[in-house]
Amino acid sequence: MLDRIRIVLIGTSHPGNIGAATRAMRNMGLEDLALVTPRCNPKDLEAYSRASGATTLVDSARQFDALEDAVADCTLVVGASARSRHLPWPMVGPRDLAESLPKALEPAEARVALVFGREDTGLTNAELQRCHQHVHIPTNPDFSSLNLAAAVQVLAYECRQAFLALEDASSSATSAPEREVDQPFGVTWDNPPATHADLERFFVHLEQTLTAIEFHDPDNPRQLMARLRRLFMRAHLDSMEMNILRGILGTIDKRLRDKS
Ligand code: SAH
Repeated sequence: MLDRIRIVLIGTSHPGNIGAATRAMRNMGLEDLALVTPRCNPKDLEAYSRASGATTLVDSARQFDALEDAVADCTLVVGASARSRHLPWPMVGPRDLAESLPKALEPAEARVALVFGREDTGLTNAELQRCHQHVHIPTNPDFSSLNLAAAVQVLAYECRQAFLALEDASSSATSAPEREVDQPFGVTWDNPPATHADLERFFVHLEQTLTAIEFHDPDNPRQLMARLRRLFMRAHLDSMEMNILRGILGTIDKRLRDKS
C-alpha cells in the first residue's frame, strides 16, 4: 500500500524542507517523492543534511514541470491546504483520508498522490481544482499553517497507521474463514479507476466541446469548468465511464462538423 502513495511538493523554496520531508517519508515507509518546479536546488547540501539518513530519497526524487505530469498515473489526488477556499471542495481529515486509502488502493492500477504547496503561498486554486479532495490538518485556527515538512509528517504518519491496521486485519483474517474484502462502493468493481491523465484529457475535450456548442464562453468563464471538475472528480469515474463520456463528446463534435 505505502509504495503506491506519492508525495508531491510544488514550488518548494527551501532545500531543507525537501530534506526534512524525505526524512518524514522514510520514517513512515513512503518512498515516492515528486517535485514540481522546485524554486531551489533540491540537491543542495541543506537538503542532504536535513534528510539525515534518507538521502536516497533526495537522490531518487523525480522532477516535473507541471502538477499534471507528476500525478498523470494517479487515480486519487488529494491536495493539502491550510486554508479554506471560495469554491468549497470535498474535504477530508487526515485520519479519514488515511483510513480510506486501503480501499482506494484496492485495484492493482490504483495510485494516490498527496500534494503539498509552497511555503509562502500554498497551493493555487487551479492546483487544488486538479485534486479529487482536500485534506486539512486541524490546527489552531489562529495559527493554522504548519511547516511544509511537518505537514508531510502528519499525513505520512496517518498513512502508516492505516497501513499497520491493514496488516493487523489481514494477519487475523488468515486464521478466520474467508474475509469479505472491502471494495469501493461496497462491491467488486468491474473496471479500473480513471487516471488523472484521463481526467485532464477529458476536461480539455469537455471545455472545447462546450465552447463549440456555445454553452461555455472562455472569455467569461465564471466558475463553470471548476464546478464541472468538482462534479466529475466527485464521481470517481472508472476507465469505461471515461470512455463513454469521451465518446459522447466525440459524437457531438462529429455532428457539429457534419452540420457545418
Ligand atoms: N502560507 C501558506 C501555507 C504554506 S505551508 C498558505 O497560506 O496556504 C506549506 C504547505 O504545507 C501547504 O501548501 C499545505 O500543503 C501544507 N500545510 C500546511 N499546514 C497545513 C494544514 N493545517 N493542513 C493541511 N496542509 C497544510
